[in-house]
Amino acid sequence: MRGAQVRNAFRTCAPPRLPYNGGMKKLAIIGGGAAGLAAAVSAARDAAGGMDVVVYEADERVGRSILATGNGRCNFSNARVDAGVYRNAEFVAAALGVLADADTSVDPVHAFFADLGLVWREEGEGRLYPLANKASSVLDVLRSAMADFGAVEACERRAVRLDVPERPGGRFHIRFADGAVEHADAVVLATGGRTARELLPAGIPVSATRPVLGPLRTATDVVKHLNNIRVRGAVSLAGPDGRVKAHEAGEVLFRDYGVSGIAVFNLSRFAEAGDRLLIDLLPQVPEDGCAGFLHARRKRFAADGRPLSREAFLRGMLLPAVARAVLREAGLAPEAPLAKRDVAPLAAALKAFPLEVRGIGDERQCQVRRGGADVAAFDPRTLEACAVPGLYVVGEALDVDAPCGGYNLHWAWASGIQAGCAATARFHERS
Ligand SMILES: Cc1cc2nc3c(=O)[nH]c(=O)nc-3n(C[C@H](O)[C@H](O)[C@H](O)COP(=O)(O)OP(=O)(O)OC[C@H]3O[C@@H](n4cnc5c(N)ncnc54)[C@H](O)[C@@H]3O)c2cc1C
Repeated sequence: MRGAQVRNAFRTCAPPRLPYNGGMKKLAIIGGGAAGLAAAVSAARDAAGGMDVVVYEADERVGRSILATGNGRCNFSNARVDAGVYRNAEFVAAALGVLADADTSVDPVHAFFADLGLVWREEGEGRLYPLANKASSVLDVLRSAMADFGAVEACERRAVRLDVPERPGGRFHIRFADGAVEHADAVVLATGGRTARELLPAGIPVSATRPVLGPLRTATDVVKHLNNIRVRGAVSLAGPDGRVKAHEAGEVLFRDYGVSGIAVFNLSRFAEAGDRLLIDLLPQVPEDGCAGFLHARRKRFAADGRPLSREAFLRGMLLPAVARAVLREAGLAPEAPLAKRDVAPLAAALKAFPLEVRGIGDERQCQVRRGGADVAAFDPRTLEACAVPGLYVVGEALDVDAPCGGYNLHWAWASGIQAGCAATARFHERS
């Protein structure tokens, strides 16, 4: 029942525009990652044998990108998806709004996976993982549904060129690295963030992509002393003018080249060289209460009459290496006795420990690419290019990205499902 409701919601999203010219139609999906496989399942299911659905994948197998997600566990979605967390939020809200079914509170992506047989559980911050705790179980349900509905996997087929129809109702021509050419009546471009630019037809604006959602490289004079130390705090990202661009709470992992951890990954989406990270090492103490907190601590130590160096003052509050870095930042020699006047620079260093951003730390760890096809060129109800009827662009190939938490895969599935249904609807309603 739930699946039927979802399909009905999709049906409203694709006003058919191509003239029907008879024969078995073919939908070519370029890219067998998250968005491409979701598109293949939804298109083949809706077409019910009335259309050829073929996934062309450059790799020797489909879904390798899915297996790498969530450290092999696949944080495939979030229990509470909010379009506001996405880049190009308005477009995403319009697209997810089409997916949402007014008759049910169940998220349509979750309904899609429930219909495929996936069982999952919720972890912190609404992150959803397959119950089997393996990304392979997500891929398994997708591939077996594809096989059951008759979608075909064509692996080791790297598309290198896409020619759009020269007249309404004409066919797309896809050229592959081995020189072969295939034809299709509609195309879903699902190549991820790396190669969409090479295949998108002229006339669809597309920006260069850069890796984000990964560690940040910073000035190394400080972090080289802190390698592999984790602190739990709050982090702000400030531009060169001091304006705070973004803020995250969570764990920060120092590396000899910079910083890592989920909070940093999320900030990396907005970071540019020359920005500063400001780490709040005492997040439980409000900024205007920090000096008071340190004075009270100083008095408590003084009550015992023990000699108190600045380093000893921070013992029990920070790890020794972090304490030394804070004292260095405050311009205070560690071994000197703590004085009342030290409290102000210490409070400043503790509440906003600064690191200068130099760029992305390790591109291989980045989870998404920012940039891609300009969403303004697409109909959010169908993901179809306004200028090229029959061409759908989905997943990371569009200029959409989101923080960690299952949101990026959620977008890949949602946009893939939507485009697959829309592509099928355009042919079905004519036959
Ligand atoms: C290490 C890592 C961990 C991640 N963990 C998570 C997570 O837990 N949760 C989450 O929400 N997101 C996660 N992500 C992000 C998520 O994987 C992506 O947002 C998502 O896979 C994008 O889906 P997509 O289908 O657009 O692209 P992809 O999944 O990258 O698929 C693109 C496919 O197209 C193929 N392809 C490319 N070019 C061509 C061509 N010219 N011809 C034919 N085929 C081609 C590729 O081989 C690939 O199979 C992670 C990413 C990484 C790198």
